[in-house]
Amino acid sequence: MKLDITSLLKNNGGTLNISMKETLDDLKTDLGTVTFTSPVEFNGNVTNFNGMLVLKGVAEVSYSTVCDRCGEKIERTLTVNIDEDIIEKNKGEEETRENQKDDRFTFSGNVLELDRILVDCLVTSIPMTHLCRENCQGLCPLCGARINGESCDCENTGPIDPRLEALKDFFN
Ligand SMILES: [Zn+2]
Ligand SMILES: [Zn+2]
Repeated sequence: MKLDITSLLKNNGGTLNISMKETLDDLKTDLGTVTFTSPVEFNGNVTNFNGMLVLKGVAEVSYSTVCDRCGEKIERTLTVNIDEDIIEKNKGEEETRENQKDDRFTFSGNVLELDRILVDCLVTSIPMTHLCRENCQGLCPLCGARINGESCDCENTGPIDPRLEALKDFFN
């Protein structure tokens, strides 16, 4: 979503309310096992502070991924509080020369590319690890079954020693 900020830029101190729900294509790339399953919802506002914009609000999106230990599919909702300063592009480049650490978002002209900012904020907020449950036991090393409560039979029976197997036949 591209936001027309023509009137906002003319109005120092002014605020523009934003309420949007949109499927963001950029979220489909380079995220490994994470797949976004709902449109992104954003509610907030953007304020003009002497030509610098401050974007505040809450972005929410649902995604599916798999448990790091057992591979079970899990659905999660990602909610991100957004509070970002956005500076005009040319000014930003000048400042960057003095301060290399300036990683603020930029806008150019009368357009604020809200998608790009939301995608960035969401992608960097995805947890590094995903577990289907806090104490997920992962997979059984013998049979590959998931060991979560409904454990496999491997522990009970165990692999049978061939020598004992022979003895069993003997006693029969
Ligand atoms: Zn798991
Ligand atoms: Zn097993």
